[in-house]
Amino acid sequence: STFSNKNTIKANTTCSYCGVGCGIEVSVDKKGKIELEGIEDHPVSRGMLCSKGRNLNYVVQDQSDRLTYPQMRWSKSHPLQRVDWDTAIDRAAAVFKTFIEKHGPDSVGFYISGQCLTEEYYLVNKLTKGFIGTNNVDTNSRLCMSSAVMGYVKTLGEDSVPIAYEDIEIADTFLIAGANPAWCHPILYRRIEQHKEKNPDTKIIVIDPRVTDSCSHADLHLQLRPGTDITLLQAIGRVLIENGNIDLNFIQNHADGFESYKEEVFQTSIADAAQICAIPETDIRLAAQYIGNAKAFLSMWTMGLNQSTQGVNNNFALINLNLITGQIGKPGAGPFSLTGQPNAMGGREVGGMATLLAAHRNQANPEHRDEVAKFWGVDSMPDKPGLTATQMFDALDSGELKALWIICTNPSVSMPDANLVDRALKKAKFVIVQDISYKSDTVKYADLVLPAAGWLEKEGTMTNSERRISYLPKVVDAPGEALPDNEILMRFARKMGYHGFDFETIQDIYLEHCQLTKGTNIDISGLNYDRLKKEGSVQWPVPSEGHPGTKRLFEDKVFYTPNKKAQILTTGISNQGDMISTDFPLILTTGRIRDQWHTMTRTGKVSKLNKHIAKPYLEIHPADAKKRDIADGSPVIVKNERGEVKVTATLTDKIKQGVVFLPMHWGKILESNFGRANNLTNKAFDPISKQPGFKYSAVEVEKFVKP
Ligand code: SF4
Repeated sequence: STFSNKNTIKANTTCSYCGVGCGIEVSVDKKGKIELEGIEDHPVSRGMLCSKGRNLNYVVQDQSDRLTYPQMRWSKSHPLQRVDWDTAIDRAAAVFKTFIEKHGPDSVGFYISGQCLTEEYYLVNKLTKGFIGTNNVDTNSRLCMSSAVMGYVKTLGEDSVPIAYEDIEIADTFLIAGANPAWCHPILYRRIEQHKEKNPDTKIIVIDPRVTDSCSHADLHLQLRPGTDITLLQAIGRVLIENGNIDLNFIQNHADGFESYKEEVFQTSIADAAQICAIPETDIRLAAQYIGNAKAFLSMWTMGLNQSTQGVNNNFALINLNLITGQIGKPGAGPFSLTGQPNAMGGREVGGMATLLAAHRNQANPEHRDEVAKFWGVDSMPDKPGLTATQMFDALDSGELKALWIICTNPSVSMPDANLVDRALKKAKFVIVQDISYKSDTVKYADLVLPAAGWLEKEGTMTNSERRISYLPKVVDAPGEALPDNEILMRFARKMGYHGFDFETIQDIYLEHCQLTKGTNIDISGLNYDRLKKEGSVQWPVPSEGHPGTKRLFEDKVFYTPNKKAQILTTGISNQGDMISTDFPLILTTGRIRDQWHTMTRTGKVSKLNKHIAKPYLEIHPADAKKRDIADGSPVIVKNERGEVKVTATLTDKIKQGVVFLPMHWGKILESNFGRANNLTNKAFDPISKQPGFKYSAVEVEKFVKP
């Protein structure tokens, strides 16, 4: 995938932003100038790139914000000082050893990222669970996909996206729920648009409390009240049953739970559901009619359903629609969870979360623990569940967790209840931040800063939203003394005296991971770097060298559950983390904007991208603004018990009355007027997935008056 002539190096790689996984051809001329374009015959992107991907070369080229040497403070009162790598690794090992000896292995933890490469995830997981002896390794994927993971596990028996992107061009009905792919998964959305343009009879239903760009091709927009997704999805299920638009053969032969589901959905009338969701009853019936008439029904969802204290139940309610209609395991059909980050899927494959083990094994299962322990040549694996994302910061705050190693993520901006996170990081005994940019707001809390190599500067693999694994080559050198994350982790592990971290090449890490998947549902033992370089990306499972990869799962209607049947699940009691009140009567929902990625440490460097929307803002309905005497473009304070945010108001009737919206990207470093949306969000999480409910916080908005 990499070749060069005298003047130019060219390489094929994958975009490092969202989970779509677009193919990029990179060229570097002899002066080091990087250019890029979409790969024409790439199975995902077919030559297309969105605004973020198209500008990635500027991100790599501009090294002005890069961390280029390790820095350390000798005590909390000292400033960070430049040190060499040996000193930095010695200190990390000494601190971790001291805490482990004094307070046990659960006194330390790692908080990592869905942007780490699979090999990096694998090493952190092996190091933490196999050798340090704690399950305290979690990732920002907890904030993103964990409700979808548990939705799939409970209904299909495994964290397995059943579809392939090419199902987009086969589907005749789409349900896009709690997602704005036009901005957040733009190239996938472009494929939907192109399909609809060629096939105008294709039906698109969007469920969202806001009118977004993803509504531009929609036949029906269900603008529901936030938090009422289950009621709406079950009402659609009820109409499907009433109209006889269900697949009895699938239900009888390949699924369990239909009768209980039917009983539950019939408890609420369609008229009541319409009132609860604040949408017309006729629209619920029309949505059911579109789905009921579908030959191939593809449902898609992301943060709007996942980032909820009832996120797993939201997932059940959506997946149930595919199950009762038998719309799974066939071309153009299935429940398709859109992955947020570029390698959230790869991270889960290696078990890089507090609740997982390698190859989707279950941390709570003693047999699974034994299998992995034997493979790694250690006596046992820790049985105590690890701390998940929000629990880690609570444990730092309480002093239970002494040291936290943060890799490739910026929790000071991205975690809910960010003021609490700042306090926890300030109180922590020892914080290591391993990152590429000093513009991460989290760096200021670090006792040890480790400069990492970024995209194009290291090799490894990633898995996109459709289980497609791609190889990313190293094309340019990292600046200064920055090192690939794998190298940093191996140096640390060796300093700790652990065996099993003497990999000569990055491929050796990958091959070990592949071997550990052998015999599991995600078997990729037929893969290696040579194959990925030669054939391009491949969809798992790939259980042998001659195996071509697997486009679509469950075509035989055999599921990964113990009795091989899909589970149609009831949702039970629903619960929002926050309750609106007279003090805080508005529902805040947060989300992304088109041209920024996460906390802007990369996209924020590109002036072209900053032009789209330059400042944080609050979307508010004109009627809600009028009540508060707020004019379009005027400064406002958004507040609740957890904190406040000062931004500019944008009056729009594209948002439902009673709901306000803040983009989630801005932190303190990048925005002097404190547009950090997570000052207001609630850390309360779903009891099964442990994913926090970013999409529903009770707030009040006031006109800002200069003191
Ligand atoms: Fe990158 Fe996602 Fe845009 Fe594709 S759609 S170019 S993967 S950000």
